[in-house]
Amino acid sequence: MKKIKCPYCGYEGDPKEFTFIYESVLYLADHEVLPEERERPIVVVCPKCGRGFFLESPYKKLVEKIKTEDYEK
Ligand SMILES: [Zn+2]
Repeated sequence: MKKIKCPYCGYEGDPKEFTFIYESVLYLADHEVLPEERERPIVVVCPKCGRGFFLESPYKKLVEKIKTEDYEK
């Protein structure tokens, strides 16, 4: 499985170790309105240093795959 690496502390781990924050939370965090047509951003929170960073596009399909797997359990 492809791993996610934190750009701040360099921690690298399986995607399931990280916390994913979706659009609804971002609205509150940024205090700004995002256009409807904008691709939904996903923020990943590092389990080690606790900092959040935007998920790179190559990981998005991986997250979708994880969500599907969780649904099937
Ligand atoms: Zn980190």
